[in-house]
Amino acid sequence: MDPKPMTDTVIHTQLAVIGSGMAGMAAAIFARNRGITTVQVGRTSEMSFASGCLDLFSTLPGHPPRVFADPFEGIAALVKARPKHPYAHVTQDQIRNGFQEFTRFMAQAGICFHGPDRDVNQQMITPAGTLKPTWQVPAAMIAGARAVAENQRIGLVDIQGLKGFGARQMAQTLKTKLPGITGATIAFPGRETAGDLMYERLAWDLETPAVMDRFIQRLRPHADPVEVLGLPAVLSLYRFEAQRRVLEQALGRPVFEIPTLSPSVTGMRMKEAFLGKPGGTGHHHFPVAVSGITRDRDGFGFLVTRGQEPVEIRARYLILATGRFLGQGLGVTADRITERLFNLPVTQPSGRAGWLCRDFFDPEGHPVNRAGIETDGFFRPLDAAGSVFDSRMYAAGSILAHQDWKREKSGSGIAIASAFRTVSHLTSS
Ligand SMILES: Cc1cc2nc3c(=O)[nH]c(=O)nc-3n(C[C@H](O)[C@H](O)[C@H](O)COP(=O)(O)OP(=O)(O)OC[C@H]3O[C@@H](n4cnc5c(N)ncnc54)[C@H](O)[C@@H]3O)c2cc1C
Repeated sequence: MDPKPMTDTVIHTQLAVIGSGMAGMAAAIFARNRGITTVQVGRTSEMSFASGCLDLFSTLPGHPPRVFADPFEGIAALVKARPKHPYAHVTQDQIRNGFQEFTRFMAQAGICFHGPDRDVNQQMITPAGTLKPTWQVPAAMIAGARAVAENQRIGLVDIQGLKGFGARQMAQTLKTKLPGITGATIAFPGRETAGDLMYERLAWDLETPAVMDRFIQRLRPHADPVEVLGLPAVLSLYRFEAQRRVLEQALGRPVFEIPTLSPSVTGMRMKEAFLGKPGGTGHHHFPVAVSGITRDRDGFGFLVTRGQEPVEIRARYLILATGRFLGQGLGVTADRITERLFNLPVTQPSGRAGWLCRDFFDPEGHPVNRAGIETDGFFRPLDAAGSVFDSRMYAAGSILAHQDWKREKSGSGIAIASAFRTVSHLTSS
């Protein structure tokens, strides 16, 4: 007999993805491509912090840390040093196929990513004036990565009143590596006396052709002496490619955007590419937090709301992609780190005193940033006895133990690779 429905409206689905960050998004895309009906829940706000570049791997934390130009060479060394790392459960082919499928979807949704010609990380300029290694760079930023690789004369321009983006200071910091780089400030047309400016406001303003024309006039003196021009990412949430082409044509040289500090327009573009388009991935998405997920012989059940209406979801499989602390997949009670939805055991230091290293910048990384849940080789969470908790349930992304994505520069890579592996496995089971 079927379990009694909790509400009048019940959605039966093959898969429930809990989480709408990078891992949840990748899982939903892979499921869609395999014809798996999917309901996804979770807020996408975490993605609004991300730079919009897809990191794979660059740094093996340690004393000293080892930085790898070739991420696959790095992953091989990482897995040797940390055999429980999530990358130990995926092959190089699975990683490559996952990235290929993910970026193909993104290209169809309007964001084209550029990988390197060889297996070497690309370098992108950050608003802190540093170079960050990354694997896949969106078209909006690719001229910057190429200019760094070819040591071109780069002009950085910031906008008066825009916080967290100082072109002169960035240029100063980068000069040792890029001697030809310069920095300048312009006033934004029509906002000369506005005080603090928000990125979104400027993106909207630039939709007006007259504002764009005056913006170009103000950029021109700084563009003329350089080979390529770098701007804070303010070129529209949706028409960024068309806007960049207008600038490039008018200025006669490549223009690239630099991701801004949070909220990041480039991160928001990914979110919009995924969910904002009519039709989108064709799956149900509910931007809510869920709790009290039940399990029975048919699968998983939980309640969401659509407007004021409660809707019951019944799913055969479940992927837990709820993230770590920021995403709220993990929480803290007294001095323990807990998994918030199923109370799964969390691998963690034995007490709060062990969470952090004495040195904030310790190159080994803080143990708390490797906390997470244990899984088997197919990313199925384990219970306290070390057995698979539920063979129909998987985990993906930063909730997984034994990885420090921030230090390793592996955030999107772990999310995409683990999501790819889980969806491939549940399809074959
Ligand atoms: C500031 C910043 C910059 C970054 N820059 C980069 C970068 O340049 N390159 C890169 O590759 N990666 C970057 N990342 C990392 C990347 O964006 C992801 O955070 C990371 O890959 C982890 O993704 P995730 O999906 O596992 O978790 P999260 O992104 O944390 O997502 C967790 C999801 O689970 C949902 N959730 C949690 N609990 C519930 C619940 N009970 N019910 C429903 N939903 C729930 C949340 O709402 C959220 O949607 C950056 C991250 C940050 C914070």
